[in-house]
Amino acid sequence: MKIPPSILIVEDHDFQRRILARMLAAIGAKQVLEAANGRVALAQLDAGHAPGLVICDLDMPEMDGMAFIRHLGKRLPDVPVIIASALDPALLGSVAKMADAYGVRLLGVLEKPVTRIHLAQLIAAGDDSRHRRAVPPAPTFTLAEIEAGIRNHEFVPFFQPKLDMRSGAVVGAEALARWRHPTQGIVSPYGFILTLEQADRIDALTFLMLEQAAHATRRLRAAGLDVTVSVNLSTTSLSDVMLADRVTEIVTGCGVEPKHMVLEITETAAMTALAPALENLTRLRMKGFGLSIDDYGTGFASLAQLARVPFTELKIDQGFVTGCSEHPNAHVIVEASLALAHGLKLKTVAEGIETQADWNALRALGCDLAQGYFIGRPMDEAAFLEFCRGRQEGVEACPTT
Ligand code: C2E
Ligand code: MG
Ligand code: MG
Repeated sequence: MKIPPSILIVEDHDFQRRILARMLAAIGAKQVLEAANGRVALAQLDAGHAPGLVICDLDMPEMDGMAFIRHLGKRLPDVPVIIASALDPALLGSVAKMADAYGVRLLGVLEKPVTRIHLAQLIAAGDDSRHRRAVPPAPTFTLAEIEAGIRNHEFVPFFQPKLDMRSGAVVGAEALARWRHPTQGIVSPYGFILTLEQADRIDALTFLMLEQAAHATRRLRAAGLDVTVSVNLSTTSLSDVMLADRVTEIVTGCGVEPKHMVLEITETAAMTALAPALENLTRLRMKGFGLSIDDYGTGFASLAQLARVPFTELKIDQGFVTGCSEHPNAHVIVEASLALAHGLKLKTVAEGIETQADWNALRALGCDLAQGYFIGRPMDEAAFLEFCRGRQEGVEACPTT
């Protein structure tokens, strides 16, 4: 991210505020607005100032940083925030979660005393998609436009590699929906999944993705790759008792054995006690499909709920995986999730591995499979085939095992 021309500092300590203002000017900010607490800052927003970035202290008189972030989320949710604070890192972690929950895009936390390098790094990292995930851009497409795109077969799966953490071999991929929009370029799932789910019209996309992913699986396997491909299922689809049969028909119709495909269901969906969902999941497992609990750690599934469905795999949510080597709380959650999964005899996948340090930490904890930008971003089928070939030949700089 470039330095935004206008930056608002909310900080009660005069000296620290002035230092920060000077640092920002030095790294190229054209206008630096200053406020001594949340209330003053809010008044500035009310007066029409719309900064491109807010740097906010937490502990302030009158209106503290938390309350200000809540108001900011309502008024200017697109303005990114950096928190500058001397608080305990564990507390900062909860503030980060709170900001996410209020829809505020947090670029990161600056520990005090603030250094110019760290400040510039955080601003530069402003494009990090990790933060985009928490606050997905509002969909700009109508249901009718999306459905027309589905009818025109503009939706394709991109494949994100999954590696065995012991051997480093590519063992599969997750198929992630992308819309090759005729004028907007490649649109991510945040632009259409929610709209389809809310209108209860997700099935057409699910079946289209499944069919294309199954064809790709057949081609990849015919090319000599022993890979399994995962497809995401929406919770809403699980309520139709015909789902399992339809899914099986599509996959076998493409000449693929169900055992070479995995269906991912979010942890929240796994918690549903609805009889049709349980019937579908059990039938899919009986047919031989792998069943994966996606985004584990974001819901509150109990052990009993997880054990009720015949899952084969557990994917730890990227919110805990990314940066777990540096965050003790996340590390503990990952460790406990792995122990739970292994106790239930499930394969474990860490998604959101972005660095060598995360890879090393997950591998040391005994995680089975890895998925994340450190290994490879979602890519089209041709690029994925090339990726697999490259790794087979050992030409790709592979994560050190
Ligand atoms: P998901 O199933 O949890 O998929 C993982 C998401 O994390 C993908 O985002 C992937 O690109 C992203 N990701 C993977 N590694 C990293 C990393 O190292 N760092 C970061 N920051 N992100 C990483 P994507 O493709 O945008 O998909 C978002 C969500 O949309 C998926 O989350 C899934 O819930 C949903 N989705 C995607 N395709 C489909 C589909 O065909 N059907 C349904 N129902 N949902 C889908
Ligand atoms: Mg998934
Ligand atoms: Mg996930």
